[in-house]
Amino acid sequence: MENMDHSPNSYSMDLDQVRKVFDLVHSRNEELVGIYHSHPTTKAYPSLKDITYNNYPEITHIILSFAHSKIQPDVEAFQIKGVRVIPFKINKIND
Ligand SMILES: [Zn+2]
Repeated sequence: MENMDHSPNSYSMDLDQVRKVFDLVHSRNEELVGIYHSHPTTKAYPSLKDITYNNYPEITHIILSFAHSKIQPDVEAFQIKGVRVIPFKINKIND
């Protein structure tokens, strides 16, 4: 997805792109199980905007943080239900 904000500090999606992705997922008989995005300069934890504008409480949100390394990001996963942020264990390749 293209970041329609064209900003390293915020992110928004174009509704037509979202519809196309959901159409593609549906046409492949697949299911949306998670969404990932990156935090270029902040930690791998949902921001206030991530929590406030979360439209997908039923799926896993994966956040990659490049705050400490531009090569090997910190990767964390969460479920966001209302204002509750619930860490979600994922297996990492280097664990
Ligand atoms: Zn975020």
